[in-house]
Amino acid sequence: MVALNEKDMHDIREKIKQDNRLCGLKDGTKVNVEGDTCYNNPLFNSGGHTPFQGGTIEVTTMCENNTRSKRIIGVHVANKLCMVASRLRNQGIAVDCQNHDGKCTANMSETGVIGNEEKWNEQVARKINTDLNIASFTGDGDSKGHSGVDKAQVQQTVHFKDLGHLDNSLKRAINKAQFSSGMFAGPASKRANFQNRFALSIRARCMSELTRAHKKYKGNIKEIKNHMPKVISSIILCYKGYCGAYCSKHSLACRGSAGGKYKAK
Ligand SMILES: [Zn+2]
Ligand SMILES: [Zn+2]
Repeated sequence: MVALNEKDMHDIREKIKQDNRLCGLKDGTKVNVEGDTCYNNPLFNSGGHTPFQGGTIEVTTMCENNTRSKRIIGVHVANKLCMVASRLRNQGIAVDCQNHDGKCTANMSETGVIGNEEKWNEQVARKINTDLNIASFTGDGDSKGHSGVDKAQVQQTVHFKDLGHLDNSLKRAINKAQFSSGMFAGPASKRANFQNRFALSIRARCMSELTRAHKKYKGNIKEIKNHMPKVISSIILCYKGYCGAYCSKHSLACRGSAGGKYKAK
């Protein structure tokens, strides 16, 4: 199975090279890549069941961003689970995976760091680099994943951060924030729910503003940055109940309600 898939991904990488040349690119080896790692269990907050990270299996996947089909060109799987080792451990025998009798299904030790995305990304990037050169990498921006790609590269890689992770960390930050007791009305039991809905709403508004800004300024990051402070003020005013002229003038997502109390000076 592994050999079959490795060969398939190698063929896809070769195909990308051919396609690049057909497109008339001088350097046919350039590929834009996006990738992330997922786990069988949440890494943290695992309920105190284990002093280690909760995950026991990780899968790192990288796909090409040259075409819309986003074909997978590199995969790495790390696995801590081993039946033989857990049986031996239950008998009180200390075992180290891959160094015991019988079939070992783990490819890393039980005490290894499963959340080491830097290492996993480096390994996948090295595989991709046997045929291609990673021109840009889109990753989560909340781990060391980017530096893993850099380690596997001779040439410089442009790093992008994906929106999916950005909006999730935004929501998490609002959920964690301490608000004053009067912020959310109603009984205390409902407040967590209100705060969560508030976080969802802010997230939707911010992402909408950001995607619209990208569209309006055609991806020109300088112009987007110049405009964003006004957008932030408009969001705050809007949520405070002063949706009006400021929104209609500066916000890209809110037209400004007609009954808005706030008039821009
Ligand atoms: Zn084992
Ligand atoms: Zn508004």
